[in-house]
Amino acid sequence: MEMLKRIIIDEGIVLSEQVLKVDSFLNHQIDPLLMQEIGRTFANRFGEDEVTKIVTIESSGIAPAVMAGLELGVPVIFARKRKSLTLQDGLYTEKVYSFTKMEESEVSISKKFLSPNDRVLIIDDFLANGEAALAMARIVEQAGASVTGIGIVIEKAFQNGSGKLKELGYRVESLARVSSLANGTVEFAE
Ligand code: 5GP
Repeated sequence: MEMLKRIIIDEGIVLSEQVLKVDSFLNHQIDPLLMQEIGRTFANRFGEDEVTKIVTIESSGIAPAVMAGLELGVPVIFARKRKSLTLQDGLYTEKVYSFTKMEESEVSISKKFLSPNDRVLIIDDFLANGEAALAMARIVEQAGASVTGIGIVIEKAFQNGSGKLKELGYRVESLARVSSLANGTVEFAE
């Protein structure tokens, strides 16, 4: 997605060879026009899949997920993050290791929002090692629902998330694929 690549080059800050900061348009301040275009692009790519719900994780997945939900005409559920607690009734819960915070937490979705008939599109802001997407997929599958695909705004293609998810049989569509953050510079794949 050219508009996204352009804004990553203009405004993205390379924090290290592993981490890209995009707080001026996605992770803190949000660019609504860019989000609208992101929503349309996800809707184009997943529009044939008879998606019934979108699942994301708070907080940075919410903006792109809502715009995709608007385009596809389906509700958006965001998994809530919380510190590890004992199991609670009424929630599907999975552990997730946070790439940026380097700590394990739990993400939960209320059982009332997912049913076995649901066809779920998973959306997230970044894909690194695939932990967040996998936790969401496991929650969807706990509910007996199916994952129709995984839509990622920025994939770091030099990390192994995409390979891991594809090996498990998930369709992954990323709007920008970063191949390297070496030397303080963003390089894109293909
Ligand atoms: P994964 O679970 O795939 O290892 O990492 C994805 C999650 O970590 C995303 O939900 C995102 O919040 C965060 N993340 C991973 N890499 C980056 C990065 O380079 N920049 C930012 N801002 N977030 C990242």
